[in-house]
Amino acid sequence: MDAPLSTIGRAPAAADEIRHLKPRVDPSTLLHRQLLDGHFWTKIPAYREVDEATFLDHAWQAKNSITNPTKLLAAVQDLVPQSFYDDVVAGFARAPMSIRVSPYLLSLIDWADPYNDPLRRQFVPVASRLLPDHPKLTLDSLHEQADAPVPGLTHRYPDKALFLTLDTCPVYCRFCTRSYAVGVDTGEVEKVSLKATEDRWLRAFQYIRERPEIEDIVVSGGDSYQLKARQISLIGNTLLEMPNVRRIRFATKGPAVMPMKLITDVEWVDALTSVVERGRKLHKEVVLHTHFNHPNEITAITKRALDGIFERGIIVRNQSVLQRGVNDTIETMQLLVKRLGHCQVHPYYVYVHDLVKGVEDLRTTLQTALDIEKAVRGTTAGFHTPTFVVDAPGGGGKRVAHSFEHYDRDSGISVFSAPSVKPGFFLYFDPVDTLAPEIQERWQSGEQQQKMIDDAVSAAQRALVDSSRASSVR
Ligand SMILES: *Cc1c(COP(=O)(O)O)cnc(C)c1O
Ligand code: SF4
Repeated sequence: MDAPLSTIGRAPAAADEIRHLKPRVDPSTLLHRQLLDGHFWTKIPAYREVDEATFLDHAWQAKNSITNPTKLLAAVQDLVPQSFYDDVVAGFARAPMSIRVSPYLLSLIDWADPYNDPLRRQFVPVASRLLPDHPKLTLDSLHEQADAPVPGLTHRYPDKALFLTLDTCPVYCRFCTRSYAVGVDTGEVEKVSLKATEDRWLRAFQYIRERPEIEDIVVSGGDSYQLKARQISLIGNTLLEMPNVRRIRFATKGPAVMPMKLITDVEWVDALTSVVERGRKLHKEVVLHTHFNHPNEITAITKRALDGIFERGIIVRNQSVLQRGVNDTIETMQLLVKRLGHCQVHPYYVYVHDLVKGVEDLRTTLQTALDIEKAVRGTTAGFHTPTFVVDAPGGGGKRVAHSFEHYDRDSGISVFSAPSVKPGFFLYFDPVDTLAPEIQERWQSGEQQQKMIDDAVSAAQRALVDSSRASSVR
């Protein structure tokens, strides 16, 4: 007979002692639940006197963001030696991306060891650690512009489109894939203009309306955090009113770099919430996609911000970029995934780092992604387990990392195909400095490069022929 309800919750009798087949886990090792809390920012000389209300004010964060080395020095002062500061000055001068770091991020960097800090590596360039770009790198390696029928609207996949609404972000990341457009011109790169002109938006809306097969819109940028509340409503409602549009994602790095906006910019959160709620009534999904890369980016402030979003019934998914010296170990990625899950954020993708100018020091090999993916799968819920993808240079779109047709680990060339996206082969290249010295030498010669590429493509062709002979799929 079933136990009466009233006995449930009572300690069982000694005879029914629970058998623990798995070894017990020491709760102090459950690091994903231990979030940085308190007034951590007061370690930074410039923020010593900043109170909590000020630090949580998103407008204060935006106004006090660091955009040049002078402002950085004014904030961190004697926490860094002069030699590091000189390295930063030289790094800024060579950076293809604009620089913008929020006081929140700045406070999370370990300035006692800035060279190895995973957040410093993502946001603050230092000249001494830069590596030469891969010889096969081009700006806009993803062909976002080539696949854009309207400036800032990329229609690559059959049923979805990427809408770049504007070209600014709450922070600027060194590794930005859209360094061809995002941020202001730098000494190294003159940007394509994607200003938030509503005239451009009208053309994008018209295109989406004229293509009944498009059902899924990624609203990105730049960054949706930069859209004003009324622009969130305008874009959200215009898209919801199109019968073909079934899904909208607002993409923003904001929760990872300035979570306080979700606490103090009530107007913005209300605007998003009403689009989500209207969508729900229309049986359309409206969600937030964000971009955390390292567990240190998730603090007690983040949890509070995301708890508020969860209470409003807004689904949040995360896309990370795999980066050398940031999150390219099994332990770090497992902790990130568990910490995101703790905040009810679904880890969706981990991108193998795109071929981007000026950040070769941040790229990993494809093999690194394969190894980490294998170790992450099995540690938590399947729906909290990210898929590791390569956004295939040349417009092949996202391919699952282990779905290559061929991977030559010696030359570092992997070959992908994307039968439902675009014909042909798409190549990804491991960073040259990770390869054997004799292969590094081959990459110095244009002729040898072509030979290695031709060999890899021929091998992929053979592999495809072999597998299609064996396959029953037609
Ligand atoms: C990533 C991306 C999308 C969305 O792809 P999902 O795999 O559905 O997340 C849509 N369009 C473009 C151009 C993209 O790069
Ligand atoms: S927030 Fe996104 S779009 Fe903006 S700089 Fe960073 S990676 Fe690029």
